[in-house]
Amino acid sequence: MDKEIIQNKYLRVTINPDEVKANVQLTDDDTRWQFEPNLDGDIHVNHGLTEVSAYLHEAPKKYVRRVKTPNDERVSLFLEGLPGNTGLIITYIVEPEEPMLRVEVEALPTGTPSRIKEAKFPGVLSWLDAKPLYTVWPNSAGMLLPNDYPSAIAEDGEGLSRRIAFNRSFYQPWWGVVAERGAYLAIAETPFDFALDIRHPAGGPTKTRPVWFPSLGYLAYPRSIRYKFFKQATHTTLAKAYRAYAQSIGRWVSLEEKFTRNPQVKRLLGSTIFPVSICSHNLRQTPPTHHVTTFAERTEQIRRLKRLGREKVYLHIDGWGYRGYDNQHPDIFPPCPEAGGFQGLIEMTRVASECGYLLGLHDQYRDYYLDGAKFTESRAIKDSTGQLPQWATWAGGAQTVLCAKESLANIRRNFTELLGRGAILTASYLDVFAIVPMDECFDPQHPMTREDCYRWRGAGIDYVRNLGLVVSSEEPVDCFMPHLDFAHWADYPRTGFMQGEYLGIPVPLHTLVYHDALLLPAVFDYGGTPENRARHFLEGLSRVEIPYGRINWEHAEDFTHVDILANLHNVWGTAELKNHKLLDSDGYLQEFEYSSGSITIDLKELRYRIDGENIATKDWQEVKV
Ligand SMILES: [Zn+2]
Repeated sequence: MDKEIIQNKYLRVTINPDEVKANVQLTDDDTRWQFEPNLDGDIHVNHGLTEVSAYLHEAPKKYVRRVKTPNDERVSLFLEGLPGNTGLIITYIVEPEEPMLRVEVEALPTGTPSRIKEAKFPGVLSWLDAKPLYTVWPNSAGMLLPNDYPSAIAEDGEGLSRRIAFNRSFYQPWWGVVAERGAYLAIAETPFDFALDIRHPAGGPTKTRPVWFPSLGYLAYPRSIRYKFFKQATHTTLAKAYRAYAQSIGRWVSLEEKFTRNPQVKRLLGSTIFPVSICSHNLRQTPPTHHVTTFAERTEQIRRLKRLGREKVYLHIDGWGYRGYDNQHPDIFPPCPEAGGFQGLIEMTRVASECGYLLGLHDQYRDYYLDGAKFTESRAIKDSTGQLPQWATWAGGAQTVLCAKESLANIRRNFTELLGRGAILTASYLDVFAIVPMDECFDPQHPMTREDCYRWRGAGIDYVRNLGLVVSSEEPVDCFMPHLDFAHWADYPRTGFMQGEYLGIPVPLHTLVYHDALLLPAVFDYGGTPENRARHFLEGLSRVEIPYGRINWEHAEDFTHVDILANLHNVWGTAELKNHKLLDSDGYLQEFEYSSGSITIDLKELRYRIDGENIATKDWQEVKV
């Protein structure tokens, strides 16, 4: 078959139908890319209990259809007669006004029980004549992976399921590569069953490609990805291009709009967050460890904060339920009886309100504990074999997962009870909704795709917000951005969770996209390990985030460092992070340019400098925490 060309004024895409391959060239430049063939198969096909992989170029029957509309120009490759008589359509699409290629992957109907389960297409996009410098990866708060990075990362593709979109290793469904000449940004337009296959042997090179996971067992709907090409770019250029995309599809909602929909949200500007624990009961130890601080003791500490002159405070209440933290969810009434029950909890919320403090309960509507009073197996998700998934990772012991279709009813029941009894709730923390990957449910009574799961979790968050509460969840994963007012934290990726050295070079991809669309607490001074405290301070400062304080602090001087962050957040908390620059070769000296001024941090010498509106330092300030 002849080669097919589609082009606009920016780029030309040449498609080889026989080999199911394509390459891309910028028209006024000689930068060229090609999609490399996969070496481990393009698709997985499921025939009953067996599974085979296959290459698209081996399809015995291929034909091409070209379509030109005023909006785009498309070349579709129909690939038929793949194993089990399955087939696939690959469509390459160029629109007139952008240096962008879109690729769609869609399974054809079959007359057999065989189904295409998974596809890895269109393969690794590589330069034909320039050297890649680094990969931009929205792993947690963001990182760059230099192409010659000395350590191996997922060298053989291991851990791919952790790199499914909307997860800790992949907050936002895009990645990018920057070379000596040219750069590209790849955005999954169908992100819910999409994973980033990124492989990096020690010393490089890095290879990245999209993987389309099955939805309830097969490639159930058309998948699409867009590649946007640049003559020149930095990680900021790519993050800002993603931001424009998020704005165009309604995923980006400004803080301004969030303040309008609930004016209480504004009270978080310049605040300090105090995590407050009532009861912990840890079944992972024998005998279980058990610790209670009464609501009355916590109420007295809240009054003390007021006496210390703390004005802007958010109280995050952990372990308030019947048997404490991470136990028996979502059936956790009455509140911990040893701590004072309903009466104690309600009095604590009343005092917080009198002090003018926001207060939210840590709550959980996904992890489903088998010993909860109303545990009902039929409400839990079932895996692809019809089994109830079970594990015992957290303090509450044996758990499964509540189908997200059931979560809203439980949220409504619990909040009706609390508010009906007179608890004064002004905020809420819905644990794990935004961080644990979307669940699939194969229970025929309540089947659920990952995208359904997102909608139900989103509906739960929206329900709580519509009660007038400022609403948060765990980490700022992208799909929940329109629903959430704030999150719990977002660390840079490190060798361990909140500990160890940085993975690659930390760059604030989340902040570049969403600083003026979501309020975010710093890891400082709550999470992390003592050896990273100074860096966590600098990270929270440079990303202009809300600090955590400790409820047992008794003296004004205990607040010295959190007040630096809180005061900065008060004046720059809604500013856009316009640009981010690495000022030295190893990425430790970094400059953050906000619409209100700039912050320079030195992660090696542990110091910072602020220049700009309302707040500035005279010179470098050493961090001594
Ligand atoms: Zn279900």
